[in-house]
Order: sequence, then C-alpha cells, then structure tokens
Amino acid sequence: EMVNLNELFNYVLDRFDMIIEQDDQPKKTYTIKREFTKRDLWVEIDTDRFTQVLDNLMNNAIKYSPDGGVITCRLLETHNNVILSVADQGLGIPRADIPRIFDRFYRVDKARSRAQGGTGLGLAISREVVQMLGGRIWVDSREGRGSTFYISLPYKPYEEEDLWDEDN
Ligand code: ATP
Ligand code: MG
Repeated sequence: EMVNLNELFNYVLDRFDMIIEQDDQPKKTYTIKREFTKRDLWVEIDTDRFTQVLDNLMNNAIKYSPDGGVITCRLLETHNNVILSVADQGLGIPRADIPRIFDRFYRVDKARSRAQGGTGLGLAISREVVQMLGGRIWVDSREGRGSTFYISLPYKPYEEEDLWDEDN
C-alpha cells in the first residue's frame, strides 16, 4: 500500500521514546534525535514488514550502544530514492565482519552478542524485506565509534502533472 514514510517512522520512534519515558529504572537510557525532511514521502511498502525492519534497526542501535547514547534518525529524498538512516554511537562493527552481518545467524563476537540476546536474524530479514521492495540496505561503521545503517527505497516524487488526465 502507499504509506507516508515520515508518519510511519515517527510512529515507530514515538514508541521507542515511550518505552524510556514509562520505565522508572531503565536498564539503559538513550536519546532519539529526528532529522526528517518536511516534505511527506509516500512509498509503496508493506507497513507491517517495514515496521519490523525499523524496529530491528532501532533495537540494534540501542542494544549495541552504551548507556545514554544518542541515536540519530534521518529521512531525506534524493532524485529517485528516499533514504532513511539510523546512526548510533555504539560499539561499531569490525571491518572484516561488515560484509557478513546481513547473513542469517551471523553475529559479531559470539560472546558479546550472546550476552545481549538475539538470534542474528534481524538484519537478514531486513535485507529480504528491503530487497523485495526494490531497495538497498547497507552500513557504514567504525569499530569503537558507532554505526549508521541506511535504507534506500525507490521513490517517484509527486508531480503536479500527475493530477491531470491526458484529456484535461
Ligand atoms: P536479532 O535481531 O535476531 O534479535 P541480532 O540483533 O544479534 O539478533 P541482527 O540484527 O541480524 O541480529 O544483527 C547481526 C549482528 O550485527 C549483531 O549480532 C551484531 O553483532 C551486529 N550489529 C547489528 N547492528 C549493530 C549496531 N548498530 N552496532 C554494532 N553491531 C551491530
Ligand atoms: Mg537485531
């Protein structure tokens, strides 16, 4: 269905903000910063599946960040794509592991990851969903500095001419 991506992303992030606000003694705190384009970006996606992708990126950003970390979420458009990103100030991913983190069950540093819980399926599923939509998902990360995950989706900017039939 056609979905307003700004609205969906805001909705997902509102939920993560609420978790922190409602928890008296959170195990871990975090701050979410939103840097969104003001223009509404409508994209053809499956809301439930795409929400699952955003949830996983956010859960990872929190899970692999120190207490009090800032997570910066961006949404912008380029000529033919929308680009959504989630940037954390966490552990980062060693360069050698980067090509494999989208593989099923792959987790960096088994001991470290086991302590955090999870199965190693989140990013594999995310990649499937994004590729099904004709998009791409990738990461830019530096060990000890943090990670930024990007998703690009094909996007046809709204044109005023689209309102008019050929005959008019
Ligand atoms: P699941 O999502 O199934 O609960 P998971 O989070 O371990 O488990 P993925 O989301 O697929 O699995 O991530 C794969 C691995 O990539 C993680 O185990 C972790 O080692 C690494 N990783 C993912 N996101 C980040 C991040 N933001 N910072 C550092 N490492 C990350
Ligand atoms: Mg995950």
